[in-house]
Amino acid sequence: ARVRVMELDEQPSVTFEQVGGLKEEIEEVREAVEYPLTKPEIYERVGVEPPKGILLYGPPGTGKTLIAKAVARQSQARFIRMSGSELVHKYIGEGAQLVRELFILARERAPAIVFIDEIDAIGSMRTNDGTSGSAEVQRTLMQLLAEMDGFDNRGDVKIVAATNRIDILDRALLRPGRFDRMIEIPLPDHQGRLAILKIHTQHMNIGEDVNLAEVSRLTEGKNGADLRAICMEAGMFAIRMERDTVNSDDFMKAIDKLSVDFDRHHFHTT
Ligand code: ATP
Repeated sequence: ARVRVMELDEQPSVTFEQVGGLKEEIEEVREAVEYPLTKPEIYERVGVEPPKGILLYGPPGTGKTLIAKAVARQSQARFIRMSGSELVHKYIGEGAQLVRELFILARERAPAIVFIDEIDAIGSMRTNDGTSGSAEVQRTLMQLLAEMDGFDNRGDVKIVAATNRIDILDRALLRPGRFDRMIEIPLPDHQGRLAILKIHTQHMNIGEDVNLAEVSRLTEGKNGADLRAICMEAGMFAIRMERDTVNSDDFMKAIDKLSVDFDRHHFHTT
């Protein structure tokens, strides 16, 4: 069971070229995570301590996981992933121990990047709703803070955490020496969507009538995961019509279909 909660990906295959837009955000991540691992002398020369960890925050499906994997690859570091929500919901009573094991594993496999997805699940502000398990969650968080406080800024383990809910995050996590570097990963703008659409159509047989800039304009508010789904869906329409080229009409139908699904989903959940 333990193996599942900690996913060890020796060398992720994701490169920064597969991340659309987010150029400045990627540069910030590289400065904070990659350069301390690959060119520590830059930091030494200037005499500043590199951060131990960074926090990527922003709406779901915008590329936080992709960036974490790509920076691990670029740094030639191992990528070890742990999901905050799985830790809380699937491994009740084991959270603190698993966090301890996570850092033992990271030190053994260093250089390593520990990616903690949905950190808000273990690191949200104490609530007064008396939910059972909250003392356990608190213990898990304490263990994480102790681990972070215990390791060296100049070491070869870095932590990347991600959350969609920075608003509920326990301020203890954001103190100096912990996740004191916060990088927002926002929804893509027009140029960002265009870059993402290009990435997800690069291996597709696209007709000459397809205008990706137009697709981008029609998908305002969509995230990278939605755009990927639209490209795949457009491909499905072409397959259904027994064509080997994906045309503009396929994209329009895919946008309509996914917008309807999206609205329906929101109607049911709100
Ligand atoms: P969550 O908060 O829901 O975990 P996330 O921000 O970590 O989301 P990812 O898991 O990185 O999002 O994105 C999901 C998928 O959506 C990616 O595997 C990729 O296919 C696509 N995607 C998202 N953002 C981008 C992007 N900026 N460029 C290219 N593809 C993207």
